[in-house]
Amino acid sequence: MLADLTWWLRDAQKNGYAVPLFNTWNAEMLMGVMDAAEEANAPVIVSFGTGFVENCVFEDFATTMESMAKNSNVPTILMWDHGRSFDIVHNAYEHGMNAIMRDASKLPFEENIAETKRVVDYFHPRGVPVEAELGHVGDYGNYEEQMATYDYTDPSQAAEFIERTGADVLAIAIGNQHGPYSSTPRISFDVLEAVRNAVDVPLVLHGASGIPDEDVKKAVGLGISKVNIHAELGFAAMDAIRADTSTNFVNTQLRVRAALKEKALEKIEMLGATGRGAAMPKVETDFSKPIEPIEDTGSCT
Ligand SMILES: [Zn+2]
Repeated sequence: MLADLTWWLRDAQKNGYAVPLFNTWNAEMLMGVMDAAEEANAPVIVSFGTGFVENCVFEDFATTMESMAKNSNVPTILMWDHGRSFDIVHNAYEHGMNAIMRDASKLPFEENIAETKRVVDYFHPRGVPVEAELGHVGDYGNYEEQMATYDYTDPSQAAEFIERTGADVLAIAIGNQHGPYSSTPRISFDVLEAVRNAVDVPLVLHGASGIPDEDVKKAVGLGISKVNIHAELGFAAMDAIRADTSTNFVNTQLRVRAALKEKALEKIEMLGATGRGAAMPKVETDFSKPIEPIEDTGSCT
C-alpha cells in the first residue's frame, strides 16, 4: 500500500531501524526491490531522479511505480530523489510521487533556505513531505578529491535550517558520497551526533553503497532513519548478467530480478527493517483520494 514517508521515518527513529530507499529506473530493479520488501515485510521507499531520465521515461515508469506500490502488501513510499528545481519536483508530484526531496544544497545557506521553504510551503498543504539537504553529499567521482573540499553539514546551522524551512526530513553530509567509493569512506560520526542533538527530524544517509555495513549500522544507531542505495543494486545486476550463460533473455531477466531481490533483502536486513511493515499507523493517509482541491498555479511562489 502507498504509505506516508514521515510516519514511517518517525517509526524508524523511535524503534532504532532505518527505512531503505532504493533508486529504481527499470522493471527488474523495481520488481526485485518490491519482491524483497514483500518477502521481508518491510517498509520501503522506491525512488526516481533526474540522473535516470535517459534510462527510461519517468512519466511512463511512474505509472508502474504507482501501480506496484498501491498493490503491494507492504508500506511503500514513492519518492523523487534530489529534485534540483521546483518544476522537477512538481512534475514528480503530478505523476504520483507522494514524497519529494528538494536538493538546493549547492546553493549558499540563505538561498538553500529560501528554495527549500518555497517547496515546503507548496507541498505541505498537499500532504507531501519534503526532504532537504544541508551541507553537500559528495558527487560521483574520486573520493579523496571530493574530501579535499568536502562540505560537511554544519551542526550549528541545522536547527535554524529546519525551523526556517519547515523541512520534514534532513539529508546530511558526513563524509558520504554518491556512486562507488574509490577508497574506504570515512564517516564522521561526530558530525552525525551533533546534528542529531540539534534537530529532531529524521536524518538521511545518502550514498550508502560501499559504506561498510558496520558503519551504516552505527549511523542508524546514532539516529539515521533513512538510507539511500543505488550503486550496489547496479553491481548486483551486472554480476548476475556476467555469470549468466543462458541464451534466452527471458532467463537472464529472471536472474537479474532475483539478484536484485537478494541485494535488497540483504540491505533491508542490515538496516533492521525486516518485519517492520507489520507496524501500521492508526490513521493512515488515504492517498487514493485527493487530499483537498487546491488551485494549482504550477508555481511555488
Ligand atoms: Zn543522494
